[in-house]
Amino acid sequence: MQTRVEIADFENWRRAAKEAAKELDAGGIVAVPTETVYGLAADAFNAEAVAKVFEAKERPTFDPLIVHLSRFGELDRVAEVPEEIAEVVREIATKFWPGPLTMVLPKTAAVPDIVTSGLSTVAVRISKHEVIRTIAKELGRPLAAPSANRFGRVSPTSASAVLSELEGRIPLIIDGGACSAGLESTIITIEQGEKRPLIRILRPGPVTKEELREFGRVVKAKRDRSQPEAPGTLDSHYAPSIPLLLFEKPEDFVPEEGKKYALLSYRGATRDGYVDRHEWAKIEILSPGNGKLAEAAVRFFYALRAVDIEEIDAIVAEPVSDVGIGTAIMDRLRRASAVRS
Ligand code: AMP
Ligand code: MG
Repeated sequence: MQTRVEIADFENWRRAAKEAAKELDAGGIVAVPTETVYGLAADAFNAEAVAKVFEAKERPTFDPLIVHLSRFGELDRVAEVPEEIAEVVREIATKFWPGPLTMVLPKTAAVPDIVTSGLSTVAVRISKHEVIRTIAKELGRPLAAPSANRFGRVSPTSASAVLSELEGRIPLIIDGGACSAGLESTIITIEQGEKRPLIRILRPGPVTKEELREFGRVVKAKRDRSQPEAPGTLDSHYAPSIPLLLFEKPEDFVPEEGKKYALLSYRGATRDGYVDRHEWAKIEILSPGNGKLAEAAVRFFYALRAVDIEEIDAIVAEPVSDVGIGTAIMDRLRRASAVRS
């Protein structure tokens, strides 16, 4: 299969969105830009089309997809929001949608089981990227879209990264430029709670726990160790093709004789203890501009791809501070390093 790339720039984006909607309407799959990472989209109400997403990604069917709406008014097509959380759901949507936040809610019968891996809940969001919203609007139905990478691998934050993951496996990529948030959406569940609503973070992301506190008590979801394969709890994920090593402190890194190491550095600063520790074969800096977490998040997957190359035997990653969006970066680093022991 030939993979076509349509540029959705200022002049062409409406036409590109129409092309994408046409392909989706015919039961095809299309890679589309969002503000977090590129998604691989299918018509969420077409089970056969959704099956193609799993196939192209080689994604196991026990890992459910996120459903993207074009506007809030479409929510009741995919989710039945329980009365007791309706108000807080509306408040959270008003604050964060369109944006990088996904809510897990009870699903409607219209959502095929393949989208939710047979779960009775569906993960929903509205992206800030105008192109994906326009595509969903043109199609007239929500999109089911997980990240546009092969399963377990590094998420793509540009059309060229999608090409390197899925060229020859999908017919069309809509190139809407580099992703502005750079990390996958924050995923939450919401319950009534005793005094205030209880918000559980299933996956940390660009919307932080600090921001969510305004709406309820925020807790990190516990993993069910008895069911390691349960949706959303996969330990190893976002993995480069070579091992990624994460240490408590720089002194813990002991290079193996003859091996070539790359450093994924937070801000390239000597004071952080890694840069001068070793003759690195390559150094990639997450935040070279201002040494801040937001920049590190935007460049994270790009930088991870840049050090994931043949000449290197392993990547050493500097930890970042576990606050704000740093929590989401640390989550991705831990999972990327959990792959091989
Ligand atoms: P991706 O867009 O590739 O990051 O994948 C979507 C992720 O959303 C999955 O890996 C799950 O972690 C999560 N997810 C989707 N649907 C549900 C659900 N119903 N319950 C819990 N997590 C979900
Ligand atoms: Mg993914």
